[in-house]
Amino acid sequence: MITQQQVERILRLSGDGLPFVSLYIPVEPERPDRRVFSSRVASLLDRIRPLAEDGSAQHAVRLSLREDIARIETTLAEEPVRPGAVAVFSCGGRGIYEQMWLPRPTRERILVDADPYVRPLLGVLDEYYRTCAVIVDKSVGQVWEYYLDDVRELEVIRDRVTRRHAYAEQFGEYRVRNKADELSKKHYRRLVGELRRLFGGGGYDLLAVGGQAHEVPGFVDFLPRELKERLVGTFTIDRETATAEDVRKKVRGLVADHAHQEQRRLVGQTLEAKAASRPAAVGLDETLWAASLAAIGTLEVDEQAVVPGRVCDRDGLLSRSEKACPLCGDPLREVPDVIDELAESVIDDGGEVRHVDAETALRVEQTAALLRFELPPQPVTVP
Ligand SMILES: [Zn+2]
Repeated sequence: MITQQQVERILRLSGDGLPFVSLYIPVEPERPDRRVFSSRVASLLDRIRPLAEDGSAQHAVRLSLREDIARIETTLAEEPVRPGAVAVFSCGGRGIYEQMWLPRPTRERILVDADPYVRPLLGVLDEYYRTCAVIVDKSVGQVWEYYLDDVRELEVIRDRVTRRHAYAEQFGEYRVRNKADELSKKHYRRLVGELRRLFGGGGYDLLAVGGQAHEVPGFVDFLPRELKERLVGTFTIDRETATAEDVRKKVRGLVADHAHQEQRRLVGQTLEAKAASRPAAVGLDETLWAASLAAIGTLEVDEQAVVPGRVCDRDGLLSRSEKACPLCGDPLREVPDVIDELAESVIDDGGEVRHVDAETALRVEQTAALLRFELPPQPVTVP
């Protein structure tokens, strides 16, 4: 499983003059097939072999790339194939090899560049909110954690007294039933106390509540406002028979819907800001200019957009097509995906990056951003 520390470490990696090989290979859930996987690895590596033999490149560069290819080949040949995607970041000449499994397939890709290509990785992580799911009935509360498309059971809170009374309830005794309702409230209160504790530490973004259809609303009514605000939805499930896989599917649906709603809301808010002449950028050229001035608070990127472009190594200027830097005049370095550089520069400047996989205006515009200040006009290029 990926950890935040691992991601932060990868963001800081640099080849320091030697190339980085970044590789993403998807494995579709229907067919985690070793042969398909191996042939994908082979064909992607074939694409960069010519670079490793390119006589015009420095000896150290060729050597480093050959080391990368050999290490990726042997390591992935022994790797158990599972649904999702494997990501590899390798710089043999610096002794760096990082590999991780992502919870869902990405696009197949291999890149050789000065830095690790992290956009697909960030895109996957961005979709996953840390979610707490609780399955309730009148006597038991089962608490689950859902993160990176994986679930694990955290704890079970039982109310023994209520269970005894719930049994008596079957015999239709009115007073016992009333007593049982009182006790289930007590049980709910305990459960809410536990959820408050879990959310209070800042450990969770979202709450999902599941259980029998007739019992869930009663518990939801019981939630205090701060937990209701985190509630992403409810689901029907039979606690006695539910497997971890059942819980995962139910929660995943709720979280994905929520993520898409949030993405549409953010893009809408940015387009509105732009229309009302508040600080916002819409479209790749304007967004690149904004990032070059460290003006971006929140960057929004369409997940499907990949655009080659150029970077100034002196001042970080990003451009789609300029040959020389409009700020300092230095020649620009070509990069395979300028949107990846854009995302990294926003993170470096303390902004946040949101990857949009829902269908929004960004399918056409590619990128947009909420800005910290109004942009000065872009310098006019002298061809
Ligand atoms: Zn420059």
